[in-house]
Amino acid sequence: MSELQELLRTCREIASHPGKACRRAAAAGRKLVGVMPYFCPEELVYAAGMLPVGLWGADMQASLSRRYYPSFICSLLHTALELGLRGELDMLSAVMIPNSCDSLKGMAANWKYGVGDRIPVVSVSYAQNRRIPAGEEFTLSQWRKILRQLEELGGEAVSPEAVRAAVAVYDRNRSALLRFTELAGQHPELVTPGDRCAVLKAGYFMDRAEHSALAERINALLESAPASCWEGLRLVTTGILADAPALLDILEENRIAVAADQVACESVPLRYLTPETEDPLLGMARRLGTVEGCSVLYDPGKQRGRQLIELVRDSGADGVLWLMTKFCDPEEYDYVPVKRMLDEAGIPLLCVETDRQTANYEQARSAVEAFAEILRETKN
Ligand code: SF4
Repeated sequence: MSELQELLRTCREIASHPGKACRRAAAAGRKLVGVMPYFCPEELVYAAGMLPVGLWGADMQASLSRRYYPSFICSLLHTALELGLRGELDMLSAVMIPNSCDSLKGMAANWKYGVGDRIPVVSVSYAQNRRIPAGEEFTLSQWRKILRQLEELGGEAVSPEAVRAAVAVYDRNRSALLRFTELAGQHPELVTPGDRCAVLKAGYFMDRAEHSALAERINALLESAPASCWEGLRLVTTGILADAPALLDILEENRIAVAADQVACESVPLRYLTPETEDPLLGMARRLGTVEGCSVLYDPGKQRGRQLIELVRDSGADGVLWLMTKFCDPEEYDYVPVKRMLDEAGIPLLCVETDRQTANYEQARSAVEAFAEILRETKN
């Protein structure tokens, strides 16, 4: 097996067994803090000497969570809560829960009631009107409050230098991963949609410094690879989650590569680095103000549509695949205006529903196959 394949296999192993990586870190004496989507200040957890662990749900059937959430709430929240209720996250010292969408607004209360003191909640708020001075000031006040809570949890004060160092670790990771997504788009013959997802996902369960080293080595190997002779299709993906192994396999089987993405758990948080400021917390608040094109953030003029059009043009993609998380209101609201923008730009779009509790994507297979056939006919 080549070094590249070996490294991709390592990422797949970590991404498909996140519990193992987390238990290893806990056994080494490091405190772990669960981080729910979206845009929590993970750097503060890292600065406090703890390991942030991504909590984006799991591929499983939820049952206990149904006592707290009705069935029309998204599976990301159902399965994340289910893991907590079943005791599978007991290695966590706390969990950060933001209130970025209507469904998330009930999560902290459900967690406190169901999981209780076993895993205390750090509530995360930030301004939606995040670019204006008042919004920046509000977000900064919240980051300060959260830092105090984390200091209490970690048992020691966190210096501005420690925050600055953590920000540097995260920015390096963002740059390495963003470069990886470009190279993966250029080399679909070497990086399958499943591999691409695994490299990005593994970072949620690793120390970001170690993950950067891994991603940078993969990048170096891809940079030295011969030019690609890929003749399959290339799509830009968008949505909340792209982590649906059965669906990614269907893309691979149909010779469809992921050319680029505008996915909340993949490239969206990677595109923006932290501006230099005297107070690193202010830089972190300002960074959030620069993030665009995500359905859970106030997005006047729907920059997401503009970004998708640019991604398709820059990557030479054949169309867009919308991975619609079932029961996700923010994504459903975005769909209509963004689809209109893509239609006007003449960009083909396929929307496929995804769900953490769905293992069988046979209906999606027919839709993907039909879409691929149309795209191939248009190309020829
Ligand atoms: S944004 Fe959508 S997928 Fe994310 S927590 Fe809210 S409803 Fe669920």
